[in-house]
Amino acid sequence: MHHNHIRNIYCVGRNYGEHAAELGNAIPDKPMIFTKPTHALITMNGDEIALPGSTGEVHYEAELVLHIGKPYVEGEKLSEMIDSMALGLDFTLRDVQSELKKKGHPWLAAKGFRNSAALTSFLPFPGEESLSSIEFSLTINGKEVQRGNSKDMIFSIEDVLEFIHFHYGLGPGDLIYTGTPAGVGPIASGDHTALFWGKDKLGEATIILC
Ligand code: ZN
Repeated sequence: MHHNHIRNIYCVGRNYGEHAAELGNAIPDKPMIFTKPTHALITMNGDEIALPGSTGEVHYEAELVLHIGKPYVEGEKLSEMIDSMALGLDFTLRDVQSELKKKGHPWLAAKGFRNSAALTSFLPFPGEESLSSIEFSLTINGKEVQRGNSKDMIFSIEDVLEFIHFHYGLGPGDLIYTGTPAGVGPIASGDHTALFWGKDKLGEATIILC
C-alpha cells in the first residue's frame, strides 16, 4: 500500500461517547465528517514525525483506519468495499480547534496540517464483526494512554460508509479515520508513540515539535 494511491482522507469526529464527553461535546445525531489533504499523510515506520509546536497543544487521537479497495456494487454491503485496515493518529491542534469552533470556522487549520494523518502498516480487513474481537491501543513512552474497540463506535462502520458514500462519494483509494476513543491528550517533543492491534505493534514514531 503506497501513499500515492490514497485519494480522499475522510475522518469521523466524535464517534465514541466517552471521547465526546471528555471534550464536553454533544453526541452527534449523524456522522460528523471532515477531511484532511493527502499531504497530511505520514507513515509510522519508526522515524521521527515533525509537528507544529508553536500554536498551542498538539493532541494525539488513536483511530482505526479503513482503506477502500473496491468500487461500490449495487446490492452489496458497503463494508464489502473495505480491503484493508491500519491504525492511525489523527493529530489535532486542540487550542486552534477550540478557537475555530468558537468562530464557526472550518477545521482545516486544526486538523489538516502536514503530518497530521499518521498511519501504520496495513492488515487485511477481517470484516466488521471480527474487527470488534480485537482492541487497539496507543502507548506513549511505553505507557498505554488510549484503548478502543470498534464495538463502542456511536456510528457503525456500515453507517459511516453509507453516510460518506451518499453525501460525498466513496471509491478505491479512500481512507477513513473512524474516530478516537477516550484518553486524548497533548503530545510533547521527543515522545515515542506506538500503535497496537491486540498485542501486535503496527507502527511507531517519535514526535518532534518544531
Ligand atoms: Zn479524530
